[in-house]
Amino acid sequence: MSKAAEDQTVGDWVQQHLDEVCGWPALSTPERKCLVEACDRDVFSAGLCATHRLRARSRMLRERDGGGSK
Ligand SMILES: [Zn+2]
Repeated sequence: MSKAAEDQTVGDWVQQHLDEVCGWPALSTPERKCLVEACDRDVFSAGLCATHRLRARSRMLRERDGGGSK
């Protein structure tokens, strides 16, 4: 099943169960997508997806170790 077809199916299901869906509690994580604009992966930690968090971490370590001089 393609992604679009799956979205369509979910959309149909939601329409048929609108009362139930509207009664669902709010989720505690308002930002579930990676902070990187071009990236639409789910947040893993610190507002970033696993890949971008790893990248941020290596940048942070490099900056810390290099004293930010370069
Ligand atoms: Zn990302």
